[in-house]
Amino acid sequence: MSQTATPRQGRRAAGILPGVATPEGEGIIVHRPFPSYAAREIDPFLLLDRLGPIDIAPGGGGGVPPHPHAGFEVVSYLLQGGLEHRDSAGHHGRLAPGDVQWMTAGAGIIHSEMPTDDLRLRGGTLEAVQLWINLPARDKQLPPRYGDIVAAALPTATSPDGLASVRVIAGEALGARASLPLRTPITYLHWTLSPGAVVHQPLPEGTVALAYVLAGEAHAGSDALPATRDQLVTFEGDRGPVTLRVPADGARTEVLLLAGPPTGEPVARSGPFVMNTMAEIRQVIEKYRAGGLGVIRTTG
Ligand code: MN
Repeated sequence: MSQTATPRQGRRAAGILPGVATPEGEGIIVHRPFPSYAAREIDPFLLLDRLGPIDIAPGGGGGVPPHPHAGFEVVSYLLQGGLEHRDSAGHHGRLAPGDVQWMTAGAGIIHSEMPTDDLRLRGGTLEAVQLWINLPARDKQLPPRYGDIVAAALPTATSPDGLASVRVIAGEALGARASLPLRTPITYLHWTLSPGAVVHQPLPEGTVALAYVLAGEAHAGSDALPATRDQLVTFEGDRGPVTLRVPADGARTEVLLLAGPPTGEPVARSGPFVMNTMAEIRQVIEKYRAGGLGVIRTTG
């Protein structure tokens, strides 16, 4: 039988959700640990996707053409290729590898997420991670917002033994700190771990924690649950650090470590719309059908 975890050991791993390959948009495959049959949402998180990696042939197409969202916030993190965002609130952004984009869908927005013209012309690999974070009821009618952050603006840090390095997208790790202008104060860390690395990552109290393996194999939690590429580790409890380890005979490993405080509110969802009640879902679908979420203008 296991002993009671000490604070140093931190949160126990609760289980693994596999990233299920799922078609999305036009010619896109995402790996999606949730929502799935196993977990609809992990409050405050509504969805996690690894888009691709997909190879785009020179002159090829694919992407996610205009579609609506309402009731939550989105963070996209580009790993490879180039991604272009346009939305019905007039925002336009182009992401290069390592760049981060955030969007408050709020009361409703239409956007497109397409490979950049350059990527389509020359061909190449597209890979990104997208996270949806719920908005509490009081914020679901906020006007849409959008912004992006270039890779060079994200702080990085390396452990004293040189075996673990981190890019901080939101939160604090190894003394490096960043934040996203979201309504929910999330932690979003991209760890790169060499064989033998051990990370004890403190997290704010009252947060749900998740670890998604992008490459290699990590042993996660105080019980050292092994997780490989495209597996999401969930953790017990809402306090204490999370431990990530790579065995000395392991491989170079990349893990996204996420945390955030739950809304504790009922979730009603239908595809790209996430509200508190089905009546609110019907309202936003009606608004969308009536053209109330606007249109994307591509001039300028
Ligand atoms: Mn979208």
